[in-house]
Amino acid sequence: MQDVIIVGAGPCGLSAAIECERLGLNTLIIEKYNVVHSIYLYPTNMQFFSTAELLEIGNLPFPSPNEKPFRHEALAYYRRAAEHYNIKVQPYTEATGIQRHEDGTFTLQTVNRQGEEHTPQARRVIIATGYFDHPNYLGIPGEDLDKVTHYFREAHPYTGMQVAIIGGSNSAVDAALEIVRVGAKVDMVYRGSDLSANIKSWVRPIFESLVTKGKINLHLNSCVTHITETEVQITNTEDGHTEMLDNDFVLAMTGFRPDRKLITSMGVTMSEDMDKPRFDPETMETNIPGLYVAGVIASGRNANEVFIETGRRHGAMIARHIADAFTHISG
Ligand code: NAP
Repeated sequence: MQDVIIVGAGPCGLSAAIECERLGLNTLIIEKYNVVHSIYLYPTNMQFFSTAELLEIGNLPFPSPNEKPFRHEALAYYRRAAEHYNIKVQPYTEATGIQRHEDGTFTLQTVNRQGEEHTPQARRVIIATGYFDHPNYLGIPGEDLDKVTHYFREAHPYTGMQVAIIGGSNSAVDAALEIVRVGAKVDMVYRGSDLSANIKSWVRPIFESLVTKGKINLHLNSCVTHITETEVQITNTEDGHTEMLDNDFVLAMTGFRPDRKLITSMGVTMSEDMDKPRFDPETMETNIPGLYVAGVIASGRNANEVFIETGRRHGAMIARHIADAFTHISG
């Protein structure tokens, strides 16, 4: 039996594993894909908004010649951190269920890529499943067409194409800036009356200048309401007026939300609006004794309230709480 099983090998899950191992807790991570898969899915040329120091885990220095590192540097860093601390990760294995027994231990149900099922056991479980698997879907006709994606990778395929970008926050703006550079015609469609206040201060003026120059067509107070192979329909949220735009591709940069299936199936109670799991902020333990949350799964309706900078700190609190409980039991 493991002392601790962590579900999810993102930066916060890895950080939790490092902190647990440091306190002598025998730890295993179960990961649906491979380490830091969400960072792998980020846009290829993405530069973080955080400095390298604020992305560090396990006090392992993140050397970077850039003030703010790029995605590929973060991939290398987190791979190295897992290796450096000898973290046991079971990749390409999904945790599909968890049971807590009367003696307080847990059994997980897992399934790997070959379809083989296993039931590893642990004295404590940490859920660190992030949110990047679950985009905010629009629920409109045509969203399932191949030309629509919720994950922007690189600009090149959009060279000379007519691209609609949905959303008004950092991912939408970053994608628009990259795509304009390869000669795409960009329609950015945002339901709000002004772009998000979260847009980084050094990015906003560049974006606004491209709008002023007519390189990006910004449609405010507008929603995409129908997507066809050759067009998108946009509807004005104020007067209901609709318009058809020629279109080759749609980038729905509408953000993400954590999947809470595992924790709710275990009986973790949620806040009154059913949006945020209840947990002790000092220890990250939920109302199910021995079951913890780390990283963005602990956030509420605004899934952006926890990110790597903050979520990486959850592991130390959890590890200390578990180690103290074990000392108490054995002492
Ligand atoms: P986000 O901040 O959650 O923004 C999602 C956008 O989509 C918002 O403008 C939202 O509109 C809109 N939206 C959501 N659901 C919608 C729907 N059903 N229909 C139409 N519009 C919808 O997501 P994000 O831009 O992907 O950013 C996620 C996180 O990653 C943030 O913390 C961000 O700062 C970070 N990020 C970092 C980098 C970087 O480090 N370089 C780059 C990009 C993003 P409302 O505003 O009306 O809710």
